[in-house]
Amino acid sequence: MEEKFITIKEVALNNNCPECYNTNGLQLTFLQKFVETKFYKSITRETSHLLECNTCNTNIYPISWTEDIERVFNYHQKAFTPKTPSIKLKKSARLLIISVLVITLTILGLIVFPYL
Ligand SMILES: [Zn+2]
Repeated sequence: MEEKFITIKEVALNNNCPECYNTNGLQLTFLQKFVETKFYKSITRETSHLLECNTCNTNIYPISWTEDIERVFNYHQKAFTPKTPSIKLKKSARLLIISVLVITLTILGLIVFPYL
């Protein structure tokens, strides 16, 4: 099973970076978790976010967020619409379901047929 977070939305913030105090480096990224297995692909309900500064190449963790950053973050989080969770069966899963059905019908047929 493969799990990955995919970028859904990126926003450039004008706030001061708590590390380098630059005002044009902060980037807020919203991510959503995708799961892929042999049989299906799924968009999960789980979302995540990341605040990075492109000027000093630092991840800014919530612990060092300023009040301004928090306010802007809350605003963008409210405006952020994640993708609708879904599960999509792959061809291998459909084939598996069809073969199980065919086998079941065959067995049923073999049991019922002598009585017809
Ligand atoms: Zn910075």
